[in-house]
Amino acid sequence: LLNLDHPVKEAAASWARAELDDPDLVERDRECRFWAEGWRRIADHGVLRGPVAPEYGGAGRDLVHTILTIEGLGLGCRDDGLILAVGSQVLSVQHTLERFGSPEQIQRWLPELVSGRAIGAFSMSEPHSGSDAYSLTTTATPTSEGYRLDGTKAWVTMAPVADVFIVFASTNLELGRWGISTFLIPADTPGLLVGENQPKMGMRTTPFADLTFDGCIVPADARMGAEGAGASIFSSAMEAERAFLLAGAVGALERNLGDTIAYARTREQFGQPIGTFQAISHELAKAKLAHEAARTLLYKAAALYTQGSPSMMAAALAKLAASEASLSGALTAVQVHGARGYVTEFGVERDLRNNIGGLIYGGASGIQRNIVARLLGLPA
Ligand SMILES: Cc1cc2nc3c(=O)[nH]c(=O)nc-3n(C[C@H](O)[C@H](O)[C@H](O)COP(=O)(O)OP(=O)(O)OC[C@H]3O[C@@H](n4cnc5c(N)ncnc54)[C@H](O)[C@@H]3O)c2cc1C
Repeated sequence: LLNLDHPVKEAAASWARAELDDPDLVERDRECRFWAEGWRRIADHGVLRGPVAPEYGGAGRDLVHTILTIEGLGLGCRDDGLILAVGSQVLSVQHTLERFGSPEQIQRWLPELVSGRAIGAFSMSEPHSGSDAYSLTTTATPTSEGYRLDGTKAWVTMAPVADVFIVFASTNLELGRWGISTFLIPADTPGLLVGENQPKMGMRTTPFADLTFDGCIVPADARMGAEGAGASIFSSAMEAERAFLLAGAVGALERNLGDTIAYARTREQFGQPIGTFQAISHELAKAKLAHEAARTLLYKAAALYTQGSPSMMAAALAKLAASEASLSGALTAVQVHGARGYVTEFGVERDLRNNIGGLIYGGASGIQRNIVARLLGLPA
């Protein structure tokens, strides 16, 4: 894992360079358009099968292999939004379904998801409950037919193109977090309205939208896990999602850094390459340090998680390191490229916009610091 050119990562990167180089990326980014053809190529290449058990169509790889693959895709593919979509499907949706779904739910959906024929989305956040996720107000009222869902979910990655949703709702608001349950709900269920793709600052090629549940009736067997187990399912899901969702961003940072170093070596001002100015080279040295630290923490979190050891601290540290390194590295890239970094045409500014989201999704940075502080024995 200490090898920067790990063969799994390199294989994914060189495949992505060849197959996921979309000439329309700048245009699609402007129009907030998902690349369905790129998604199909990724699925056909078997990427989504990675960590899922072979009996459900998966490749049975461990999570470290999956992280290296997603990192390699981030390194080789300039469409950061597409790679975020892969992370969401593999880590947030498939991994959660495989661990907590009923045998029927798994049989029905997992083979479809790993083949890429179906797209899944993970829906916890609401307009009034983000970091304080367990204060959600979407209700799942028990009825003779199963449950009736009412409420609004927010910021759901891939919602506009999703076929199925993992949804958290309360069966008893008075019980707070212990009243939260998890449901697996097909997108075409009557009473579920998927909103329009919402334009956003970055990661524009990953569509996202709100969900409205208005008297949405689901059968009792749509529930995942026991009634009231939603908070613990969410917490487990976040342990996998938190840091590993940033694997693509760590790969993208390596690409960004490589491009920026190459530019600094060739762009000349005052008769010499700008990389010979210490003001530039030291910024790149700082970005290199941040990248290496983020990568190492990411691998540590993945290794601990894979061997079943406590990984919450490592995951929170990795998420902080990866999101902050990616953002500061992208800002350095813009500065080093000057006006070329600022205009849309070259895509350097896109990386900067894309990486701001890393401070928010998968649990905002303040929440990661709270986790670290709490595990240090400090009140958070
Ligand atoms: C690109 C993107 C994709 C997303 N995809 C999904 C998805 O697929 N599914 C889903 O359910 N959600 C998704 N989200 C939503 C995301 O999980 C939330 O935005 C996130 O949890 C933060 O919630 P919030 O936006 O309501 O901010 P708030 O919770 O209102 O936080 C605002 C600020 O206050 C800080 N803060 C809040 N509480 C504390 C505290 N106790 N201590 C210190 N600081 C604090 C936060 O760190 C943040 O800086 C996505 C968001 C983005 C940007």
